[in-house]
Amino acid sequence: MRTLNLSAYSETTPLAEVDLDFTTACNLRCAYCYKWDKGEWHLSREVAFDAVVWALHAASENKTLTIALMEGEPLLNFSFLKE
Ligand code: SF4
Repeated sequence: MRTLNLSAYSETTPLAEVDLDFTTACNLRCAYCYKWDKGEWHLSREVAFDAVVWALHAASENKTLTIALMEGEPLLNFSFLKE
């Protein structure tokens, strides 16, 4: 059973931005990239959903919450991104 600890963030400082490591898949091969040796990896739907719910809770009364999709090219998994 999965549990989500919504109290794992200070309510005195509402969250304004969160970075999600979405995928290591990428259609580019930048010479300086350090993602290649990680192999192809994708964020699971369950963890992504929990992270967004947690971030919305932690953002509290903030009117703006930025969710940055980090790692590789998120558009390679566009159907998941739309969900
Ligand atoms: S993940 Fe970023 S740095 Fe790495 S190859 Fe893709 S675009 Fe380049």
